[in-house]
Amino acid sequence: MRKTWSVLGLSLSLLLPLNSWAKNHVVVVATGGTIAGAGASASNSATYTAAKVPVQQLINAIPQLKELADVSGVQALQIASESITDKELLSVARQVNSLLKKPDVHGVVITHGTDTLEETAFFLNLVIASDKPIVLVGAMRPATALSADGPLNLYSAVALAASDSARGKGVLVMMNDNIYAARDVSKSINIHTDAFQSQWGALGSVVEGKTYWFRQVSKRFNQQSEFNIENIQGDQLPNVQIVYAATNMSPDAYLAYAKNGAQAIIHAGTGNGSVAAQIVPTLKQLQQQGIQIVRASRVAAGFVLRNAEQPDDQYGWVVAHDLNPQKARILTALALTKSKDAKQLQTMFWEY
Ligand code: GLU
Repeated sequence: MRKTWSVLGLSLSLLLPLNSWAKNHVVVVATGGTIAGAGASASNSATYTAAKVPVQQLINAIPQLKELADVSGVQALQIASESITDKELLSVARQVNSLLKKPDVHGVVITHGTDTLEETAFFLNLVIASDKPIVLVGAMRPATALSADGPLNLYSAVALAASDSARGKGVLVMMNDNIYAARDVSKSINIHTDAFQSQWGALGSVVEGKTYWFRQVSKRFNQQSEFNIENIQGDQLPNVQIVYAATNMSPDAYLAYAKNGAQAIIHAGTGNGSVAAQIVPTLKQLQQQGIQIVRASRVAAGFVLRNAEQPDDQYGWVVAHDLNPQKARILTALALTKSKDAKQLQTMFWEY
């Protein structure tokens, strides 16, 4: 926030040196991914090594960031995001949480591999009890490529995290000029720069460092969430796995996960979270053993209707609503830290 003091209509700030016009402090928390990737040549837009460039180099590469905010960097991880486990996820959440508790930090930007960016974003949306801006950003091309998208994405992400307008809007994802909500954005294209989409649309845009808003999220997040990273001990969440449905599938994967300690299984069903006739008895049996069954869909858009395709009330199953299987996995893991009751889990799926 800029400070000026007026005396008799004169602004004293004019008498102070320019550098005393404090800009908002934004911390870039780097975790790796393509945005920190490097390829052998400028034409290598898809063949490169992710998670190579350190955070300070990412910041230094964009001198214009200084015009937006007082930017500092933290190297939280240096990893390709498909390899993130609970340990890394919890560690990033704890680092973000403690940064946001510092009074001088206005917001954070998390640079992240795009593969699982949506999962980290949704997790932070659920466990960080702060209304300060939290913005995740990635890139589809490494910084060494022609028309690299990372620098402008990072510039826009810092602009968003430095703005007052991003406060209290939930965790945000900044990609390709668009601002998305963590809960419903998903990597939907795996080769183009317009990789992220939400079936409910973007919340807004950042253009030339200015934020423009068009929608808000109506679900619970951050300070309205019942989950809090400060109440989660250790470096593991409850074991929740996903099984992807297709024709001619067998129950083997469900049984193997159950045998190896899964507390819940997300069924990434066809269509409306449908369950093949030969799989139904296995899922009923696992539910009776105390393993939660959550019906999601392998279809990218729409939402799973309770008791429509399957009698969920009768079987004690849960539906994932509009959350995709990977986000349903995150919410289920957190839900199981609070309750093992299918009805309570279902309420959480309606609310988050
Ligand atoms: N697979 C890598 C990751 O998710 C690179 C993909 C990317 O960042 O776009 O970290």
